[in-house]
Amino acid sequence: MASPKSWQSLCPSNAIYEAKPHFMIDSKKCTECEGDFADAQCATICPIEGAILDSFAVALNAPGSLTGIPPAKMDAAMAEIQAR
Ligand code: SF4
Repeated sequence: MASPKSWQSLCPSNAIYEAKPHFMIDSKKCTECEGDFADAQCATICPIEGAILDSFAVALNAPGSLTGIPPAKMDAAMAEIQAR
């Protein structure tokens, strides 16, 4: 028997499903990991900042959370990168 894919075993509510080219979350199934984990597990691996919103429409992986670059400094950081 094949083992579940990592994204399937990640979610305690089985709310994540494959929707090519990305993934989707079934909001009716999502519990925001309450009672299972302190943090939303999907947000810990999602590579796109701001892609996952909580029930108040607040990004769980807010801009800057992955890069460590505060949004106010993003333009300067991008200019520095592009100048290399
Ligand atoms: S926050 Fe993410 S990992 Fe947690 S239940 Fe919802 S979809 Fe699943």
